[in-house]
Parts: sequence; structure tokens; C-alpha cells
Amino acid sequence: MKKWEENVRRVIPYTPGEQPDFADMIKLNTNENPYPPAPGVQAKIKELCAEELRLYPAPAADALVEGLAACYGLAKEQVFVGVGSDDVLAMAFLTFFNSKKPVLFPDITYSFYDVWAGLFHIPYECQPLNDRFEIVKEDYYKENGGVVFPNPNAPTGVELPLADIEDILQHNEDVVVIVDEAYIDFGAKSALELIEKYDNLLVVQTFSKARSLAGLRIGYAFGSPALIKYLNDAKYSFNSYTMNRPSLALGAEVLKDDAYFRETTAKIIATRERTKKELAALGFQFGDSKANFLFVTHPDYPAKALFEALREKHIFVRYFAKPRIDNYLRITIGTDEQMDALITFLRAYMK
Ligand SMILES: *Cc1c(COP(=O)(O)O)cnc(C)c1O
Repeated sequence: MKKWEENVRRVIPYTPGEQPDFADMIKLNTNENPYPPAPGVQAKIKELCAEELRLYPAPAADALVEGLAACYGLAKEQVFVGVGSDDVLAMAFLTFFNSKKPVLFPDITYSFYDVWAGLFHIPYECQPLNDRFEIVKEDYYKENGGVVFPNPNAPTGVELPLADIEDILQHNEDVVVIVDEAYIDFGAKSALELIEKYDNLLVVQTFSKARSLAGLRIGYAFGSPALIKYLNDAKYSFNSYTMNRPSLALGAEVLKDDAYFRETTAKIIATRERTKKELAALGFQFGDSKANFLFVTHPDYPAKALFEALREKHIFVRYFAKPRIDNYLRITIGTDEQMDALITFLRAYMK
């Protein structure tokens, strides 16, 4: 190691799911939405003009913040936006997790949490999910420097009931509690209603999954005006213009079409429930996912071999070579036709 390398802030980075590019592929590996964004987004794209890009975007991202506030019945002081919820979460870790006590999150969870903790030198302690892959609320009652978990959890899809989230909040009034609701629109109950009661609760959501806009990179957080102000103070100390002009315009647009949002999320939920039955019939085991993916294992077929066999056929799913979950596959819910192709392949493979 060179002398200068001793002072490098070294991290083991997060590994995103691969983005393969084959004409014939069935891409069920990064929880994207199989349906296009709301039609208004396509129309709005045509209205955008290159001349606008000459100017900086609005630093407070007003159009998007006001759109979100109106859509969710909040004041704009309760809304923070960022470049995907990854950016929002990273900013929240940086801003709120600044204690010498460990931040608590599940052992099986979104694999970015330990990366941000490493990057920002935040001590953390993982709390094991029980053997049904559920969060055990009592594990979060001990002294800590903050709490973060996704609901539903990723990559398990398992929901933590709102009453349990409130119990965790009641035991954690002295730290910030972050609920990462990337998949909340697929049937779980949001903690949003609790932000009025708990000024230390930050609820983080995204347009990447349920709004079909992973490519735009828009995430947001809801919380008390005090929390949001702290987040904005950190953001303006880092990069004032995080949200680009096209994202602001298109993000505000997507919020206008509630009917399309409801229709496409309902379709994904219906496909998910049907896929659960098909996979159960093939002998797969899984928890009751409330997300747009299933996290499945099979007693007779090792996940890694299945993953590779699917990949050969250009059916991409996600496999994590990690403790406790290295015999599982995470399968994004696609269209009915895509899930049929997956089931047809599995049926033949298991013969
Ligand atoms: C997908 C995902 C995110 C990040 O999504 P963005 O595209 O950055 O908005 C955050 N948390 C969890 C649990 C996710 O699965």
C-alpha cells in the first residue's frame, strides 16, 4: 500500500443488479415496473426543450415538492426530494446517524445500508430476522444511534404491521427512525400517518418501482418540518442542484395520473398473487410478499443452479450469495406473459 492510500476513504461498494441488454430477455432482476410510466409522462417529454437545459433547476425542486405535498395531503415543509431514494437514504444516514451508538437494521435487508454506514463511518448492529424472515420488534428496543428498515422488507417482501412500527417508534423517541417504503404501493400499510405523531420518523418512498420511473431517479421523504429542514441543510451543503429539470417536470407530471397508478399497481398485485399459486404448485416456498417481487426457495433445486439455468435462457432474476439467503431467488413481478414464460421454463426444468 502506498503512503497516500492510508488516508483514502475506502469502501466496499454496493453491487447493483445487472442491467443486461438482450432483445429477447425477460428482466425480473431489479424490481422495475413492467408497465410504462403514465401516458402524461410521454406527452410531457415531447414538450421539454433543450433550451431549458441551459438554466439550473430550481434548487428547492418546488414543482415536485408541491406536487408530492398535494398528492399526499402534506405541507411542503414535510417533503424532501432526491435523486432516487438511494440519494434520499444516503443523505438521511449522513444527517441523522451521527452517534457513537450503533444504528440498528435487520441482518437480511437492503444491502445498501451497511455500505452507507461504512462510507460515513457509522457504527451499526444487525438484528436477525426470525426464521420466518420477520423483523422482531423487541430487537429494536435497546439503546441505539438510530433505526432503519424497509417495509415491506427487501429482499424478503415481508411486511411489518403498522402497530409494530409504532411500538418501535415508542421505544425510540431519542433517535431518528427511518422506514424505507420503496415497495409500499404494492399492498402494505404506510407509516405516513405516523409522521404527525412522531417528529423523529422519516418515511422514504420512490418513483422507481410503483411509478415506473426507475430511469428518472426520483425519491422522496416525508417527515416533520424539523427533520426535513435538517435534511435540506445537509443537501445544500453537498450539492444544491440534485434534481435535474426534466426529472422535476416529469416527476410532477406522473403524480397527476392517479387512475393509471392504481390500475398498474393493482395489475402487479394480481399477477403476484397468481404467481404465488403457480410457484407453490411447483414446490417453491416463500413468505407472503407485499412487494413487486417474490423471494423464493425450493427444497430440491438449489437456487444458484436455477439462477444460472434461467440466465442461460435470458430470464434474469436476482441471486444473493449471502448468509441465510444463498438458497433463495428474488423474482420481480413482470407482466402476466413474462411470469407465464418463467413458470413454463421452471415446469420443464423440474421435470
Ligand atoms: C429499490 C430500492 C431503493 C432505491 O430505489 P431508488 O431507485 O434509488 O429510488 C431503496 N430501498 C429499497 C429497499 C429498494 O429496494
